[in-house]
Amino acid sequence: MEITGKSFKSETDLASFIREGKPTLFLGSKTSTVLPYDKFERFLPSDSSLVLGDLSQMPKKCHLDKNHNLVIEGPVTWQEAAQFCQSKGRLVMTSPTEELACVLSGLATSCTGERSFGFGTLRDQVVSIEFINANGEKVLLENHKSLSNSSWFEDEDLLISYQKKYALYQNFKNAPFPRLEHETDLMVGTEGQLGVIVKAVFKTAPLKPLTFFFLSLPKWENDFRPHLEIYEKVQSFRDHIISCELIDENSWSLCDSAPVQGRDTIFLEIYEESLDKVYQELLLELSLTGQENIFEMSPTKFNQLRMAIPRQVAEKIAREGVVKKGTDIQVQPEIFSKLLEKYRELANLGVTYNLFGHFGDAHLHFNFLPSRHEEGLCQDSLFSLYNWVKEKKGSPFAEHGVGLIKKEIIKDFYGNEQRKIFRYLKNKLDPQGIFFPYGFMGDQ
Ligand SMILES: Cc1cc2nc3c(=O)[nH]c(=O)nc-3n(C[C@H](O)[C@H](O)[C@H](O)COP(=O)(O)OP(=O)(O)OC[C@H]3O[C@@H](n4cnc5c(N)ncnc54)[C@H](O)[C@@H]3O)c2cc1C
Repeated sequence: MEITGKSFKSETDLASFIREGKPTLFLGSKTSTVLPYDKFERFLPSDSSLVLGDLSQMPKKCHLDKNHNLVIEGPVTWQEAAQFCQSKGRLVMTSPTEELACVLSGLATSCTGERSFGFGTLRDQVVSIEFINANGEKVLLENHKSLSNSSWFEDEDLLISYQKKYALYQNFKNAPFPRLEHETDLMVGTEGQLGVIVKAVFKTAPLKPLTFFFLSLPKWENDFRPHLEIYEKVQSFRDHIISCELIDENSWSLCDSAPVQGRDTIFLEIYEESLDKVYQELLLELSLTGQENIFEMSPTKFNQLRMAIPRQVAEKIAREGVVKKGTDIQVQPEIFSKLLEKYRELANLGVTYNLFGHFGDAHLHFNFLPSRHEEGLCQDSLFSLYNWVKEKKGSPFAEHGVGLIKKEIIKDFYGNEQRKIFRYLKNKLDPQGIFFPYGFMGDQ
C-alpha cells in the first residue's frame, strides 16, 4: 500500500490536481474519529494507493451577507466561525464539541453537536454549497432546489424508492445513509466521496445571552429514572434550551476538574431571557431531582470542561494503541430507556467505560476504554448492540460518520435502494474513483 501527501494553497492548484485523476482522500483538520490517521494500513487493501490531500493550507474567508447568512470559503474552523459571528451579533447554529474541525468538512460529515437540540441539523441550516467536481469545475448546489425532477437524477424512480427508505429516519440527526432530498444533500454526509467543498453559506441566529445550568444526578448505572424524567420534560422547551448534554461520572473521573464528585451531570444551555420560565416550569417541576442539585455555570467554563472529555478518551485510547471502541447511536424517544439498559449491560462486562453526549436528542457516546486483550470482547459486544439498533430502526452513527473504521458495521444497514443509488452517484459524479475511493459509497 502506498500513501502519499499533497497540500493545496489555492483553488486553482486543487482543481488542476483533481484533473490528474489520482485516488485521494481530501482532508480538513483531521479530527475525524472514524478515519485511522495513524493506522491506514489496517483498513486499506495492501495493493492500494491513496493521496492524503491536505486542504488546511487553502486560503480562508468568512463574512456575513445582507441576510445575516455566514459565507465560508476554505478551512475556517468552528471556533473561528463562532468568534466571527459573535463579533457581529450572530450565533452559529451548529456547535460540534471539537471546535478545531473545519466547517466545510462538517458538511461532508453531516456534523451535528450540542445545539442540534435547539436548532436542528446543519443540512437544514445550509443555504448553498460550491464544490469542485471530478473535471475540476466549480458547481453550485442550492438548498431550496429539490433533487426530484432535477438533472442530477435521470432515474426518478431510483430516488423515490431511496427516499421512502429514508422516511423511516426523518427525525434523526443523521440516518444510516444521506438524506438526498435537496440539491445540497449531495455533499452533506457523503464524506467527500462526490467532490471537494470549497464554499458554503449558512443561516445564523441572533446572538442572545446564554447561560448553563447543570443538574447533579446519581450514576446512571444505578438509577437512570432522574435522567429520563429530565429527558422527557426538556422536549417541550426546545425554543428556550438550545442544548441538553449528559456527562457521566466515569467521564468526569478521566479529568481533574469534575464539578461534582461521584455523580453524573446533565447540562442545559438556556437563553437568559427564558431562565425564569425554565426554572419555574421545568426545573422546579422535577420530582426526582431536588433544587439542591441544580447549579449554574458560565458558558466558557462549560466549553472547557465539555471538550476535555472526548479528548481524554482519545488520549487514553492512543496510549493503549487500540482502535476506538465507542458508539454514536441515536434512537427513537420511545426506546431511549432500552438503549440505556443496553449500555448498562455493556457496563457490566468489566471493561473501563464512560458515557456522555447529546442526551436531549437520545444520542449518546458510550466508549469502552479497553486494554489490548479486551479489544475483541468490546468489538463483539458492539456488533451485537448494532444488530439491536438495526432491528429497532435506530441510527448507528448519528454524527461522526462512517469513514473507514465503521464501514464494516454500516454495510448491514444498506439494502438494494442504498447500494443502487451510491453506485449511480459514484458513476455520475466520480467515474474514475478519485474522491475517497474506499469510503462507504465506493464498494457498492
Ligand atoms: C474530541 C472530538 C469531539 C468531536 N465532537 C463532534 C461533535 O460534537 N459533532 C460531530 O459531528 N463531530 C464531532 N467530532 C468528529 C469530527 O470533529 C467531525 O467529523 C468533523 O466534521 C471533522 O472535521 P475535520 O475538518 O477534522 O475533517 P477531517 O477529519 O479532515 O475529514 C473528515 C471527512 O470529511 C471529508 N472532508 C473534509 N473536508 C472536506 C471538503 N472540503 N470537501 C469534501 N469533503 C471533505 C474528508 O474526506 C473525510 O471523509 C469530534 C471529534 C473529536 C476528536
